[in-house]
Amino acid sequence: APKIIGLTGGIGSGKTTVARFIEEFGFPVYYSDDRAKTIVNDNENLKIKIKELLGDEAYDENGLYDRKFVAGKVFNNKELLHQLNEIIHPAVRLDFEDWVRKQTKYLVFKETALLFELKLNRQCYKSLLVTAEDNIRIKRVMDRDGKTYREVEAVMEKQMPEKDKIKMADCIIYNNTNLEELKEQTERIVFNIE
Ligand code: ATP
Repeated sequence: APKIIGLTGGIGSGKTTVARFIEEFGFPVYYSDDRAKTIVNDNENLKIKIKELLGDEAYDENGLYDRKFVAGKVFNNKELLHQLNEIIHPAVRLDFEDWVRKQTKYLVFKETALLFELKLNRQCYKSLLVTAEDNIRIKRVMDRDGKTYREVEAVMEKQMPEKDKIKMADCIIYNNTNLEELKEQTERIVFNIE
């Protein structure tokens, strides 16, 4: 079985950029959030459970997951959000395990924003954190998404503090400079994992 490296980072840290570099170096990356968005539409078992929890309106007339409806339902309802996550997270986990079984490389990467929050690092051989200074991250997300400073900061404040992640991570990429340096650091780290 391949070794699984958990790849994570807060908003605007650059984890997706790092994941793309890792793929360029020839290693497979599982994108947890993207897969979650796919399986809520593809996994019939999961669809049934979501409808049981939130009602048939969780899916539109075309049978597609209605993100807005669901967001409205769980907004200000922590318990319901928790129950929804208790349905979706195990499904993603099974999907990931299927994916891993098909891989032939000795190392594979699992990109997930919530690696430490969901204690998914326990199922990984090592954790790799991408981090950068708050101001730099905020600026990058403002440029990428057209959000205001305050909007990005508000998301950041809800995430696990960077210092806690740094304590838990096995490997850390500091993404405070340019993309060339980011790629070099990524290469150095990826090829030195043993
Ligand atoms: P999110 O969790 O918000 O999706 P992320 O951690 O996946 O963020 P990226 O999307 O990889 O972060 O990076 C955020 C933005 O910053 C992107 O537009 C990316 O191109 C840019 N970026 C990342 N690293 C650098 C860098 N070293 N130099 C310049 N731009 C960068």
